[in-house]
Amino acid sequence: MPDALVLNATYEPLCVVSQRRAVVLVLTDKAVALEDSGAVLHSARVQVGAPSVVRLTRFVRVPYRPTVPLTRKGVLARDSHRCAYCAAPATSLDHVVPRSRGGPHTWENVVAACGRCNHVKADRAVAELGWRLRAAPREPAGAAWRILGSRRADPVWKRYLSAADEVDEPGSGWRRARAS
Ligand SMILES: [Zn+2]
Repeated sequence: MPDALVLNATYEPLCVVSQRRAVVLVLTDKAVALEDSGAVLHSARVQVGAPSVVRLTRFVRVPYRPTVPLTRKGVLARDSHRCAYCAAPATSLDHVVPRSRGGPHTWENVVAACGRCNHVKADRAVAELGWRLRAAPREPAGAAWRILGSRRADPVWKRYLSAADEVDEPGSGWRRARAS
């Protein structure tokens, strides 16, 4: 079953829940439906239209901003599935400073790499090879990343997510592309 996007009372995107959960939020007056998914949930007695976006009726304080979890899918999406060294299609991840040299497993030190670069680089540092990164890797920013990770967004969610900040879509890599 598809999911529903949950917005705070302030319209700030908060999280993604199942549509069933979203229906319960609406039926218990904890949220109002903003977008209808077109799907209908059936229970023993009732049929309810399932929302794809809901907004909480009361403001929820978010105590902290969780960091985006570092995953293989996430790194590949951030780097647009391109090798950070040569821009060829990436098939693997590489630690810029190798783990054997104390390189951390963080967004700033993990990049997408093609098989060839990964093989050639092996345990060496970028500087030793005379290579350059195409851009400095960093943790993806933006509500879309924080909430979705590398998960695909329902197209209907887009404007709610992009209203929160100038969102970097997964796949836009390091650029903060803004239509001007
Ligand atoms: Zn490469």
